[in-house]
Amino acid sequence: MKKLLLTGLCLLFLTSYAQAENFLAGAASRSIMPTKEMVNNSIHSNMTVRFDELGSPINSKALALTFGDKSIVLIALDISGVKNSHSDPMRKAIAASIGVNPDEIILSASHSHSTPFLEPMDGPHPYFDFVLQQSIEAAKEAWKSRRPARFGHDVIYVVGASFNTRVPMPDGGVKFTRDFREGLASGRPIDPRLNIIRFDDENGKPIAGWVRFATHPACVIFNTPISGEYPGYLTERLSKTVTDGAPVLFGYGASGDLNCIPMFGSESDSRNMGRQLADLAAPVFEQIQTKKPQRFLFGNRTVNLPLDPPPSIEKLEQEIEEINTFIKALDTNPELEWVMGINCKKEWPVKNKINHVKPLAEWAGLMKQALKSGRKFPSNWQSEITALIIDDMGLVFYPGEPLVELGFALSAQSPLEETLLIAMSNGANGYIGTDEDRLRGGYETYSSVRYSKLKEGTRPLPYALGAGECLIGNCLSLINELCGK
Ligand SMILES: [Zn+2]
Repeated sequence: MKKLLLTGLCLLFLTSYAQAENFLAGAASRSIMPTKEMVNNSIHSNMTVRFDELGSPINSKALALTFGDKSIVLIALDISGVKNSHSDPMRKAIAASIGVNPDEIILSASHSHSTPFLEPMDGPHPYFDFVLQQSIEAAKEAWKSRRPARFGHDVIYVVGASFNTRVPMPDGGVKFTRDFREGLASGRPIDPRLNIIRFDDENGKPIAGWVRFATHPACVIFNTPISGEYPGYLTERLSKTVTDGAPVLFGYGASGDLNCIPMFGSESDSRNMGRQLADLAAPVFEQIQTKKPQRFLFGNRTVNLPLDPPPSIEKLEQEIEEINTFIKALDTNPELEWVMGINCKKEWPVKNKINHVKPLAEWAGLMKQALKSGRKFPSNWQSEITALIIDDMGLVFYPGEPLVELGFALSAQSPLEETLLIAMSNGANGYIGTDEDRLRGGYETYSSVRYSKLKEGTRPLPYALGAGECLIGNCLSLINELCGK
């Protein structure tokens, strides 16, 4: 009797163990190419899009994963970004459509610079509505098509596709270079890793792929054909060559200071880069040995990152004066580049230079008013990070753009074999760098917050010293916590 009971218990244990290990994956894709009527180019400032030339496809791709009783749905969007005001309603609506929690949905934008912007929610937003609808359709199909799956990953190293845009200056500042030769000559780091994940069904047929590269998809600048840029070409090609049409999702790595080669190139430069990356990735994808994962963990955490205090009224007035003087001086010298430690591209038409620097003064004016009216600014800014661990691979999704050295810091300090910081996910809180990046200032770590013009829900001030370290510390402790360490 005792023996029988024991056998019974063992069987029960084995059954629940086998159930817990059950790993399912499903994927689907929907186009998010707008009609002409949906696009409002007036919200794009310098970056308008046009319809007279075809770029790479833009899609919303969903990957639904279930392991035992845990599920997540990753939505990869070929879009420049999903702001905080867009992310929350999207996650809620997608979650409701398949019956999971909003924190089990991860929205991950490719940051392609040739895509239409999602409109502000306080006005008409036909493109946002369309993207949401297509994402819901993709998520529903991915969820329904989940089937027993296997997982594997690999990496190759690619140089010559990216450069670091922040060139240190002798005065302690930094130049934003748009010339890859200058960026490469500076010796500043790039991230050569092209990471590839493969999900197969039980017969070894691909259900989906996921590739991550760390460099801005910003080859064609200003008036561009609508395009997913290199991530669109890369994933389209891999879907054709190695996954037999199954979706390949793109993960945008920590690359706040990295750009693809060249910047200010053409659509065909972008196409060449995406297809060449695909041709390097394809044989690696084909050789990945997939297996049933033994571990699947995920969790969210809210991190509070320190902000600078607002500048003094006196400093703001100086800045406004400096910018106005610069704009006036362009009349006589259109080749001027530098203002407030920020540089325009020398060859830009005066109109583009003004569009680039005027918001910096507008922000200073708004800040002056806000301070005079007694508005208080927070000393911290909240971001939600999400970590997903499958076997020895960790992905940490962050709502903003960490500079490359933060991505390296996470990978180097993580206890997992490979840990990748994925940018522009579940919101957009802008650039964040190391203390050295912050001290040098410049566009990413100093002036870029000004383009949001103190709008509700957007980060009002630059991150303070210590913010980058605090972010990486939180990513690591979330990983350790999930791993039970
Ligand atoms: Zn960016």
